[in-house]
Amino acid sequence: MSALPESSNVLSFEEARHLVEEHAAKLRPRGKELTPLLGAVGLFLAEPVFADRDFPPFPRAARDGYALRAADLRDIPVTLQIIGEIKAGAPENPEMRVEDGQAVSIMTGAAAPPGADAVVMVEHTARIDTDSDNKVEIRRTISSGENIVPVGSEAKRGDRLLPQGMRLDHAAIGVAASVGRAHLLVYSKPRIAVLATGDELVDVSTQPGRNQIRNSNTYSLAAQIRAAGGEPVLLPIAPDEPKRLRELIGDGLEADLLLISGGVSMGKYDLVEQGLAELHAEFFFTAVKIQPGRPAVFGQIPCSAGAPAREGTSAPFTHKYFFGLPGNPVSTMVTFELFARPMVEALAGMQPRKLIFLHAKSKSEIKTKTGLKRFLPALLSGEFEHAEVELAGWQGSGDIATTARANCYVIIPPDRERILAGEWVPVMMR
Ligand code: AMP
Ligand code: MG
Repeated sequence: MSALPESSNVLSFEEARHLVEEHAAKLRPRGKELTPLLGAVGLFLAEPVFADRDFPPFPRAARDGYALRAADLRDIPVTLQIIGEIKAGAPENPEMRVEDGQAVSIMTGAAAPPGADAVVMVEHTARIDTDSDNKVEIRRTISSGENIVPVGSEAKRGDRLLPQGMRLDHAAIGVAASVGRAHLLVYSKPRIAVLATGDELVDVSTQPGRNQIRNSNTYSLAAQIRAAGGEPVLLPIAPDEPKRLRELIGDGLEADLLLISGGVSMGKYDLVEQGLAELHAEFFFTAVKIQPGRPAVFGQIPCSAGAPAREGTSAPFTHKYFFGLPGNPVSTMVTFELFARPMVEALAGMQPRKLIFLHAKSKSEIKTKTGLKRFLPALLSGEFEHAEVELAGWQGSGDIATTARANCYVIIPPDRERILAGEWVPVMMR
């Protein structure tokens, strides 16, 4: 039987996060697939997307108004002869060339005619139409180039507009559409196994006995996995019994990453670390100085086949990563966000990114104890530039309902006992 991990494997939050990021950087997604444009929303690009033409492809009028020569507007008001009209999408008309003293009525998105070097907005003009003649009075000066977007100024044909590994949000989908990509090559979703442990647990559709509870972690984790770009694989609940637990851990190791909830604390029946150790696990950390989620565990287990390839190796690599997340529901959620999420994202093909916290003003005084970095469920409110935050008033890391009504976590550094009302505090959005 292998020894339990060393108890000294307790890291600060920052150390643990950096360590996870280092491992995430070594991961590569399993495969690629071609997906219709809208099916790609939320997935990660497996190819760069290039501009198929110059953007804009023609000198684009940025306003409704009159295309003219800026030099004609030295003395205003000035009256110009209207020689025609150009709608957005109108084919090129070689005859329509703006000369001194002339203007063309033009719509936003139309191609500016040759000879014109600026567009004056219609709001700064007055039309003077007679039966025989169309003229316009221009009441503002303008510099050459104004309101005409030059060919290729936004992007040149062949420019890389979207990098490989980018998450496809609405803006990226819009870019792909603009370059004619009805299909995109995306990374296949990684399979992330979820194993809840605990003799007290019953499944969501089973009526629990008086001293039993429903397994909620499998479902909250599955939702988090989906949000991070993975495909959850739900395993049956593992009892607090070594043999069956080991079997189910073995099943979970067939996925790309294994998340175990519960059984990682110091209790007599917290058997997860022991079970992992027996499978020759290497533990990178066995606790992190945070609350909630202190007993979080991260490591890898030797594994033969079917694993995602690591950088620099063509053969399947010989380890699978796992997390042992503390079973208290809020601890499970927070430790997924802080540590498991970057691994899921990396397997999903995302370019590595750092965790960034926003800041908001604390609405009231916050008192805690020193020693742990705290991620406390909180409510971000306020409006526009005035972001305010207050604790959601949770009753501890089992208080799933208060956490569900919160919309963020306030982060309290380990050396602070007291945060004053009005103080700026870091916030992690949910
Ligand atoms: P553990 O980490 O196994 O010591 O569990 C800590 C607390 O979380 C206990 O009160 C458990 O009953 C609870 N818990 C563990 N796993 C789950 C789960 N899958 N769903 C809901 N609560 C859980
Ligand atoms: Mg347990």
